[in-house]
Amino acid sequence: MSIQSINPTNGSVIKSYNEDTDTAVIHKIEQTHNAWLKWSEISFQERLTCLNRLADQLYKERANLANLMAMEMGKPIKDGAAEIDKCAGVCKYYAEHGVNFLKDQLIATEASKSYVSFQPIGVVLAIMPWNFPFWQVFRFLAPALMAGNCGLLKHASNVPGCALAIEQLVKDAGFPDHVFQTLMIGSKGVSQVIAHPYVKAVTLTGSTEAGMKVAAQAGSVLKKTVLELGGSDAYIVLADADLEEATTICANSRLINNGQSCISAKRFILVKEIEKEFTRLFMEKIKQRKLGDPLDTEHDLGPMARADLRDELHQQVIKNIEMGAKCILGGQIPVFKGNHAFYLPTILTGIKKGMPAYSEEMFGPVAAILTAQDTDDAIALANDTQFGLGAAVFTKDGSVGEEIARTKLQAGSCFVNSLVKSDPRLPFGGINQSGYGRELGSFGIHEFVNIKTVYIK
Ligand code: NDP
Repeated sequence: MSIQSINPTNGSVIKSYNEDTDTAVIHKIEQTHNAWLKWSEISFQERLTCLNRLADQLYKERANLANLMAMEMGKPIKDGAAEIDKCAGVCKYYAEHGVNFLKDQLIATEASKSYVSFQPIGVVLAIMPWNFPFWQVFRFLAPALMAGNCGLLKHASNVPGCALAIEQLVKDAGFPDHVFQTLMIGSKGVSQVIAHPYVKAVTLTGSTEAGMKVAAQAGSVLKKTVLELGGSDAYIVLADADLEEATTICANSRLINNGQSCISAKRFILVKEIEKEFTRLFMEKIKQRKLGDPLDTEHDLGPMARADLRDELHQQVIKNIEMGAKCILGGQIPVFKGNHAFYLPTILTGIKKGMPAYSEEMFGPVAAILTAQDTDDAIALANDTQFGLGAAVFTKDGSVGEEIARTKLQAGSCFVNSLVKSDPRLPFGGINQSGYGRELGSFGIHEFVNIKTVYIK
């Protein structure tokens, strides 16, 4: 069996990779476990020195890595460069703060000394998606390595080149051999990895369906999982919002990574007073984006990551229209030479309960507009979802915005007058069908450690 890297701009095969055999997979697990026995005993100072070198390595390779992403999954080259800088940032963040997050915490009891110590747990399997092929991996990897764990990566099958590039970066940064390795396997090969006794936990970023399957397998052998799954983030726009600013932020959020982001704004819930003006400004801003070859720095939007994902998205769009939604922009597969996985930025209005855009994730450049009678109705619509990753509210009244974000919206991250984004300093993750557990910040580094109680009489 082989894993193929296909350029979504033109459909050409970039490279085919042989899948690792079962024996090779077991060998890699054993190698990484053996590496962990030593890595777990290495000082914080040595770990953070390696992490800082990894950041330097990322900066050095930025242009090549951005080029690789553009080729394998269609990310415009300027966005790829920004992604690499963000990866370097998360390495530096955990190098700077990891020691503090991981230091013993004294707790007074009747003992002469009692405290919590954060001990590494071993090899963690990371199952990762193609949409941010470096960032998704680094936000797991940097805290894992700082905490003294080791990692095995099963990357999405359409970005094998990115997976191997990450392995190479870790090597070039001077980490000990095998602390991090890529497994060249498809999703069918994952269950044997989860079942292996040396693999202690699993983190997955991807669809809710994949998360459920992996969590069920991990649960059957009592291994902890962190799941960062899909979302259908609602952005509520209230009557007093600054529409010029709100539409800029909403357009940016919807079109991040060509709409293929778990925390892109997907449902725009507009109170009826501002619906017309918001839609006009929003459409103007969406229309400004230039679609084309992701290797050309002029372009804001490349193709979607795979033709099958584009086709699925188009079917969802068609179904919405058949059910009564109005398509006021896009809604088509563009026709031009070499087009393999492109899709036109699309706006659907009049979205109602029962339509796909109301309840399903639209993972691509498609905005769904819903009308709310008032603020309470907008909040109820935002929360009427199986997901719960992020949400945002736009209003000039800061205290109203904060109250809605803090207590009313049901999601893992709620922002006011800003697009929902991940930041190394803040915990990131969802509730409900968007998953559980947190990445980033101090919460992220504590997910995969033994929170050990030490008690000395
Ligand atoms: P998947 O969720 O299928 O893939 C994500 C990762 O999980 C990949 O590495 C994939 O491997 C792996 N995987 C999938 N199924 C299993 C399984 N049963 N056991 C073990 N590993 C598995 O995403 P798709 O690429 O198919 O995209 C489909 C949809 O998923 C998107 O349209 C979007 O809705 C959602 N998605 C969400 C993301 C997010 O950031 N939350 C990111 C990507 C997708 P392989 O590639 O080999 O199948």
